[in-house]
This record gives sequence, structure tokens and C-alpha cells, in this order.
Amino acid sequence: MQEDIIVIGAGASGMMAAITAAVNGGQVLILEQLSQPGKKLYATGNGKCNYTNRYQEMECYRGEDRSFIERALGHFSCDDTLREFRRMGILPQERDGYYYPVSGQASSVVDALVRQIKLLGVKLHTEEHVHGIIPPENGQKGYQVRTDKRTYQARCVILAVGGKAAPVHGTRGDGYAMAKQLGLNVLTPLPALTSCVLKGDFAKEWAKIRVKGRVSLYNKAGELLAQDQGELQLVSYGLSGIPFFQVSRYAARALETGDKPYLLLDILPDYSMEEVGQELTRRREAFADYPAEQVLEGMVHKVLGRVLLKSLA
Ligand SMILES: Cc1cc2nc3c(=O)[nH]c(=O)nc-3n(C[C@H](O)[C@H](O)[C@H](O)COP(=O)(O)OP(=O)(O)OC[C@H]3O[C@@H](n4cnc5c(N)ncnc54)[C@H](O)[C@@H]3O)c2cc1C
Repeated sequence: MQEDIIVIGAGASGMMAAITAAVNGGQVLILEQLSQPGKKLYATGNGKCNYTNRYQEMECYRGEDRSFIERALGHFSCDDTLREFRRMGILPQERDGYYYPVSGQASSVVDALVRQIKLLGVKLHTEEHVHGIIPPENGQKGYQVRTDKRTYQARCVILAVGGKAAPVHGTRGDGYAMAKQLGLNVLTPLPALTSCVLKGDFAKEWAKIRVKGRVSLYNKAGELLAQDQGELQLVSYGLSGIPFFQVSRYAARALETGDKPYLLLDILPDYSMEEVGQELTRRREAFADYPAEQVLEGMVHKVLGRVLLKSLA
């Protein structure tokens, strides 16, 4: 039997695609390899799911093809998202332009999507791993979708298997091979919005410290590639927090092109270099009889001060 539309992957995009197709009269089957749909959604927004944002200007988005982003957002705005989710039972709660379900639980969003696909008669097969899509050949109509259980025929296929981020939630990059099988051009996937692993073991000492600061990323030639500031999270393996997430994609891209980018952290962003220099000179004189560690006290986090001084020894 030929299926009308097969959606591969029951994440946020797969379920939304299935809902849209079903609302428009399509008969839909979703194939999901995990035992439950929407697994990654539970982890989003720190378990609260930040499902849309009021501020959606072009400068918020990255990517080579800006017109794609414009087109996509033009089709489905923040208000469309709020309206659609409200229809599914999700009341919004706004914080600084970020929208979450008023329940404060990402699980509400998963439940709403699953409820909706059931209401629309969408079939969902879980624990079924898709390993290949064969496009129509020799005048055949439709696609062959091969899973670990059987082979399906489908008039249309929607590939919604996510990327490579957070493989613990089911995404190991299967989609790239499948897209290539269909003759699509796949750009080299690079990490983005990720933390930074540092060489050496000094980071173990500063684990769990949070400081306000500015991160600047430079290429080997010393040109500024990206900059951001906010709360820096110093973790046992390196550096994390929003500012690092923001600059990470530029670091990944530079590394990909063979460059050797480096980071500069300004942990006193409200003070100029000159002011910091003057303060250090003043302290050296005023606290001449104290251990160096104490000279930095009140200026930087105590543990960070210790790590910094150790690195200079
Ligand atoms: C920690 C964390 C926090 C986040 N917070 C937010 C947030 O607050 N707001 C926000 O907008 N975004 C957030 N994101 C990003 C967001 O989760 C993703 O952009 C979104 O979930 C992607 O949805 P997707 O449907 O494309 O892919 P996924 O959700 O990854 O779904 C893909 C599905 O396809 C299935 N699949 C994969 N391969 C196969 C196969 N071969 N056969 C069958 N099934 C397969 C997977 O099991 C999975 O269920 C966050 C991500 C993470 C990791």
C-alpha cells in the first residue's frame, strides 16, 4: 500500500509538518526511531520550552541564505506560532520577549503536539529506524522508505530528523546521508551555540564559577570575528554560558577553514585597560606585604584570581 505522506522524525518540526499536512487534507504517517515523540523538546528552554520569540529581526539569524530565513519567517510569524499553540491548548507566558507555556513545562508542548496529531488521525510508528529513502526511478511514482522493520511506499516524504546536536535525544546526523541520497546539496555541518573545551587541566580548578564578562574571538591574524558579553560560566572542561554560545559558531567556522582562532576574556568589562593597570599598581604598593592572591581580592573572583596567578608562575 502506498502512503500519502511519510514524515521521518517526530521532533518539533516533524510533528508540526505532520499537523500542517493533515490540516490540509494529507494522510500522514510519522516514523520515529525512539520510543516516544518530541524527546528533545523536554530539554528545551531549561525544561520550560521557549517556543517562540517576539523579536525576530534578521540580525538574530545566521546562515548563508538570508532570504530563506526571511521567507520562512514571512510564512509563520511569532503571532502565528502563538495562535497555533493557543489553538492546541498552550497559553503563553512572556518574559522579555521570550514565550513559554504558562505551565512552565516543556512537556505541555510535547503533549499538545501529540494530542493534535492524534486528533487529526496522523499515524505514528515509534521505535522504527529509517535507514534509507530511494527517490522515484524509471517512471515509478513515489519514494521508497526503508526502515529496520519494513519498506514503505510514499507519494511524498518530509525529512525532519534534526541535525547532529544532542545525540542523546536521537539526532546523530542520519538526515545528511538521506538528503544526499535524494540528490540534495549538504553543506558541512558545524557546531554552533556550544561551549568551548580548553586544553590543559586548569579549568578543573575554576569549575562552577560565574562571572560577568566580555568574550572576543579573533582569527590568527588578530581580526575580531565575534564578540559578546554577559554571564560567563567557567566549567570543569572549559567555558560555557550565552556569550560563548554566541561566538562558538564563528570559532567552528574559522577552525574548519584551517585558521587558529583565539579567545580573549575581559572579566572587568566595565573598566578600561588603563583603569585596571592603575588599580593593580595601586594595590601592589598598598598591599606590598600581602600574598599576591590577596592583592586580587575584591577585583576578581577569588578562585579565578588563584588560577590566573598560577598560570603566570
Ligand atoms: C538543551 C537544548 C535546549 C534547547 N532550547 C531551545 C529553546 O528553548 N527554544 C528553541 O526554539 N529551541 C531550543 N533548542 C533547539 C531545539 O530543540 C531544536 O531546534 C529542535 O528540537 C529541532 O527540532 P527538529 O524536529 O528539527 O529535530 P529533533 O527535535 O532533533 O527531532 C528529530 C527526530 O528525528 C528522529 N530521528 C532521527 N533520525 C532518525 C531516523 N533515522 N529514523 C527515524 N527517526 C529519526 C529523532 O529520534 C528525533 O525524534 C534547544 C536544544 C537543546 C539541545
